[in-house]
Amino acid sequence: MSKLAASPEPKSLETQPTPGSKVVSYPARDADLGGGLTVVRALPLRQHRLVGPWCFFDHYGPLSFSNRKAMDVAPHPHIGLQTVSWLFDGEILHNDSLGCTGMARPGELNLMTAGHAVAHAEETPARNSGKLHGLQLWVALPDRERQRAASFDHYKDLSVLEPGGGRVHLFMGELAGQRSKARAFSPLVGAELKFEANAKMRLPLNPTWEHALVIINGEIGLEGKQLIPGALHYLGTQRSGIELSTKDPARAVLIGGAPFGEPIIIWWNFVARSAGEIQTAREDWEQHRRFGEVKAYKGARLTAPSFSARPIASH
Ligand code: MN
Repeated sequence: MSKLAASPEPKSLETQPTPGSKVVSYPARDADLGGGLTVVRALPLRQHRLVGPWCFFDHYGPLSFSNRKAMDVAPHPHIGLQTVSWLFDGEILHNDSLGCTGMARPGELNLMTAGHAVAHAEETPARNSGKLHGLQLWVALPDRERQRAASFDHYKDLSVLEPGGGRVHLFMGELAGQRSKARAFSPLVGAELKFEANAKMRLPLNPTWEHALVIINGEIGLEGKQLIPGALHYLGTQRSGIELSTKDPARAVLIGGAPFGEPIIIWWNFVARSAGEIQTAREDWEQHRRFGEVKAYKGARLTAPSFSARPIASH
């Protein structure tokens, strides 16, 4: 999204997944997206900068509001990633420098592939339900795809699985023999799991992938452990499946994929491989080059934070 509250210094990101069957839970932290919107950030973590190709996980809401824009993220640039906007409630209007418009709603995915360069804005539309609850996720693009031309896609009618115990909305990648039609560039899974009360849900996993669960609401049991909301529960690799249980209705998000295997650097809204690339992208944005303008947005665009040009060795 924008205004990544992290230090302005680029950070080299570890890509080594942890094998093993122990579930390790990491608390999320609050971040300010501007305009009064606080989000809960589950990724990146110092210990796990990536889960598969997923490199960023923000959860916002549930919010109720009237006579204001709950979300108003002014035009800002992206490189080297896909933005995945997935809502549980409410709506978000996307506009970008390609001239594309898309209204994200529950069950309908906004997917923007930044590739070499794109700019977008995301805001609560003038006509809205007065509610907002959802996710902003980023998928890092592999080296062979990250310079591709930008694109935007809005998807309806994504795969819904009924494994018993609830429903699974598969918004990205593959799960249990199903495949999302959303365009992806690495082996991955992104799915919303909605549980009934007193549910037991079994899901097969690819044992060569790493996975994580983020609980959105309710408590979910996994292998005798209660997984609490607001944390990222890292499952590692070498799991061929999970059995999740609930007492009350609950909701979680499963992310995962083949270990990414490429060192990446995240700074502000950029995913790159070197400090030099980040610096060039920042300068191009500040000089109104490369990214284009989001003409449909009424208002000023975001200014890049200052860049501390200390190159970090990637490993
Ligand atoms: Mn964004």
